Amino acid sequence: MTLFLPIRGLSFLAVPGVYLLLGWLNYSQSGKSAALGVLALLATGAWSAGRPPPRGGGATVWEILVAAPFFVLLALQAFLRDFFGVAHDDEMVLEALFNTNGGEAGEFLLHNGRGIAKHVAFLVVFLLIYGLLLRMGNRYLPSKGPAIAGGDRRELAGNGARRRPLFLPLLFLVLFLLLHLNPTMRQSNPLLYFPLQYLEWNRNVEETRKLQQTLAATGSDPEIASIRYVGEGPRTVVLVLGESTTRLNWSLYGYPRKTNPELSALGKELVRFDDVVTGNPATTGALRLLLTPADLSRPDLWQTKPDLLTMAKKAGYRTFWISNQGGRTGLVSVLASHADVAEFTNRGGSRGEGSYDNVLLDPFRKALSDPAPHKFIILHMLGGHPAFHFRYPREFARFDGVNDNVSRELTERGRVFWAVLQRDEYDNAMLYADHLLRATIDLCRERVGESIAWLFTPDHGEDVAHYTDFVGHNYRVRAMWEIPLLFWKSGKFLAQEVLPEEAARRPVQTDTLDQTVLGLLAIRGAFYTPQRDLFSRDFQPVKRFLDGAPYP
Ligand SMILES: [Zn+2]
Repeated sequence: MTLFLPIRGLSFLAVPGVYLLLGWLNYSQSGKSAALGVLALLATGAWSAGRPPPRGGGATVWEILVAAPFFVLLALQAFLRDFFGVAHDDEMVLEALFNTNGGEAGEFLLHNGRGIAKHVAFLVVFLLIYGLLLRMGNRYLPSKGPAIAGGDRRELAGNGARRRPLFLPLLFLVLFLLLHLNPTMRQSNPLLYFPLQYLEWNRNVEETRKLQQTLAATGSDPEIASIRYVGEGPRTVVLVLGESTTRLNWSLYGYPRKTNPELSALGKELVRFDDVVTGNPATTGALRLLLTPADLSRPDLWQTKPDLLTMAKKAGYRTFWISNQGGRTGLVSVLASHADVAEFTNRGGSRGEGSYDNVLLDPFRKALSDPAPHKFIILHMLGGHPAFHFRYPREFARFDGVNDNVSRELTERGRVFWAVLQRDEYDNAMLYADHLLRATIDLCRERVGESIAWLFTPDHGEDVAHYTDFVGHNYRVRAMWEIPLLFWKSGKFLAQEVLPEEAARRPVQTDTLDQTVLGLLAIRGAFYTPQRDLFSRDFQPVKRFLDGAPYP
């Protein structure tokens, strides 16, 4: 019976469990909160069990006090995922929390009133039910009533059961504290969440400021004087950057689910590169290599040499960065700031259901019709970034629960239901990305008689239960590295040195893809190496490495 008080702390698990079932938390979020909350409550319960009576009543108050901050943090996380599709440590959330003035905060509350009210209501209901359960549980405690004859609390000191009242609470407390060695666990402690997030946000802002200063110097690199434009007439080059997109889930590359109906319909107009891997399996790492002269053999060049936008500007291009990702801190934001026009369609607190990648299309259309004769436009999508089900509108949820070869194979290989569920959602996101990429090509096709090249590749792939039940960024597997690369050009875009169909068979790693982009931009000079340009007759394949290991 002495174990009853600590053990009832386990009932806390029901709360993150309910959020998980409702789809408002993912496994990692609810798992971390569950682990911390349960240990805190086990410690509280065990401590109360060792106290003099009335233990039940006292314990209930303490347990509610300990549980309440966890309930609040869970409610906040659920709200953020439910309405904005972001995790609580997402840059957009930090920005909304720490970089807004009173007016914006008020606007945010007003604008999202219904969502906030819904989650506050859930919070209150959960707290009430939890408190009620604890009270009911008190009935089973032997602490009240005549069980202890005489009722003198001092007698209890000599009671055998009271001899190790501190052992269990201390054990749970130590386990609770040990979990804090993990940094993401620390962030899941409601009392540490805000201070830690605030510190991190400030650090990000400071680091970005320093990066901004460092990279400003790359604009005056002496070799920049060698940059020249060798093309004839006007031209537009479009570089579309996807996100977390593995080619293993694209029907264009043989995936059995028809995830690329609209791109496939382009037939020979679209060139599919067969053998492409990313240089780095993380967003910043990959884009740092792709958008600057840095490559795997000289990974630090991004700090000293100009990036593609700076070079294109130098060559006379008007440059655009249109992004559906966060853009206030980090290296990618600094690179983006080098564009003549930087537009972020996804703004912290104001981003909601409308944050699907189609918000890129209007600014893209505007950029295409800009009167500048030479344009370099970069689009940065959210693509297949987790959480997948926030990446597409409902009408693209075409693979949910379908019974096809893919789902049968996953089941045969023993995948748990939630891994299959996430695969379905990821494929929906791929289907939507297919639709969106086709829409960007169609906008280019509308510019009849113009010279336009369009190139697409994602930063990296994604592991979506391809090998185990694991879903997410997984550096050790092929799905994380093997990515699509697509090319389209208008009839008027000047022919490349080799036929696109021939180029498409060349093996490439995207750390050197900046060279192909420079080729399309017709930029020559110190930073252009034709041996790395996929469309150059001088192209030579280089050894490729996945996290240091040779590939293939
Ligand atoms: Zn990424």
